[in-house]
This record gives sequence, C-alpha cells and structure tokens, in this order.
Amino acid sequence: VRVEDKLYQNRYLVDSGRPHIIVRPHEKPSANLLALTYVCPAKCYELNDRGQVEITADGCMECGTCRILCEKGGDIEWNYPRGGFGVLFKFG
Ligand code: SF4
Repeated sequence: VRVEDKLYQNRYLVDSGRPHIIVRPHEKPSANLLALTYVCPAKCYELNDRGQVEITADGCMECGTCRILCEKGGDIEWNYPRGGFGVLFKFG
C-alpha cells in the first residue's frame, strides 16, 4: 500500500476560523520557515506570490516537524487543535 493511499484514510475536522498553527507575518522567510514548504508531509505550507510562506492547517497530521523547526525561532505559533477537531487517524 502506498503512503498516499494510507494518508487518504485519515479524516480531518476543520475548526473554522481557528487554525491551530499560525505563521508569523514576515517580509522574507527564514531558512527554516522556507524548509517547511518541503518537509511538511501534509503539504500545508506554500509560498505565495510575494515569496512569503503561508499555511493552510487543514490536513495537518500533528507530526510536529514544523513545531521542532520553527516554533522556538518564533516563525510560527503552534497549538494542538481544540478537542474534537483536527486529524482523525484510521490506523492509530
Ligand atoms: Fe505539517 Fe506536521 Fe506541521 Fe502539521 S505538524 S503542519 S503535518 S509539519
């Protein structure tokens, strides 16, 4: 079974208007912040047309990669979703 097929089994309940991860406003992304556009397994991070990193937290698997890379440096704010929201794993 391909990883993509397994990921497709997950469900995600969006907490509308209350994203659990926020990218702090920036002119130019730091190297770590830029790296998130490559390393996030859910592809939540993208560059906009001004070269800034944006996040769409829907689909986040709470793997913690972006938290380890960027929370301490202040590039992002990271919280777990509120109870009942976020990812639901079918296979644990
Ligand atoms: Fe992506 Fe993982 Fe960060 Fe969620 S916690 S946005 S899946 S890197």
